Amino acid sequence: MTETALEPDNGTLYQTFGELFDKGFTLDKGTITFVSSIHVAALVLGLWLFLGAPSEWVKLAMLWVGVQFVLGSLSTTLYTHRLITHNAAKQVSAPVHLFFCVFGQVFSVQGSVKAWSANHALHHGVDRHGKTELDPYSATWFPNATRNFIWSHTLTHLLSHPRSDEYHRSHNVQRHPIIMWQAKTYGLLTTFWLFLFPMGLGFWFGGWIGFFSLMAGSMIGSVLVQHNTWTVNSVTHMWGTTKGLRSSAVNNYIWLGPLGEGNHHADHHDFPRDYRNGFGWSGWLLDPTRYGILLLRGLGMVRGLNRATPEEEAKIQAARKAAVR
Ligand SMILES: [Zn+2]
Ligand SMILES: [Zn+2]
Repeated sequence: MTETALEPDNGTLYQTFGELFDKGFTLDKGTITFVSSIHVAALVLGLWLFLGAPSEWVKLAMLWVGVQFVLGSLSTTLYTHRLITHNAAKQVSAPVHLFFCVFGQVFSVQGSVKAWSANHALHHGVDRHGKTELDPYSATWFPNATRNFIWSHTLTHLLSHPRSDEYHRSHNVQRHPIIMWQAKTYGLLTTFWLFLFPMGLGFWFGGWIGFFSLMAGSMIGSVLVQHNTWTVNSVTHMWGTTKGLRSSAVNNYIWLGPLGEGNHHADHHDFPRDYRNGFGWSGWLLDPTRYGILLLRGLGMVRGLNRATPEEEAKIQAARKAAVR
């Protein structure tokens, strides 16, 4: 990635998606195949489930979807995002790493904890150095909202990005040994929890009907969890009511997203290592993930939570008001 190749043009970096390929982006065939396959499987198996499966298996499949949606979302927000990427707690105990790396985070279907954190660190890095070209899921690269939405929501995940020094630094960060182990075994963990486990469980209890029903649940759950998280990268960087100081993120106070990450995204960008996602009373109301973190602290499984002091919050709010004038 060269500096000249990324010179902004009228505030945007690219006019069309086609330009990305001139700048070193390439199709990530493995991810394209995987992501499109689970979307097609969710659609086809979902149609079969609702049109042809016995009602008790429809209910069980929907139970799977619900559990995966909550588990995958919580794992992304609580563990991968706040505790790991943003170091919201000074100490995270081994059982917490084990639970989320071996089990919970796999259900979010968004790559390993290590890779997710590396990309997210690049996303926030832009708030400090301003090099928008390094934000892997920027919602500001293109001249119109449609392209920005398509890119930040999905397309970014389907392309291999040019490697910058910052990319290498971020992806080479050494993390807890359990996270490093998960990165190496992520393919196997995904194969087991998203495919073999639901198919085997369904077949054990209900033969082929059970096999396909829980497979439908797993595929629909995977697609919903993915889009729920991706919406944080797209919607909360494009539409809302309160603009943040250091990023394109906007508070919208409505959409919970993956358990609280969707509504106070500007607050999050302005104080990223906070274990909470939003300031004030609305932050308390709209952030179920913080209850989970407080529960873990109550159980002694995480210690030393970081948060903005009331003075720091007030300073950020005042600076935002001054910026609007
Ligand atoms: Zn963001
Ligand atoms: Zn973040």
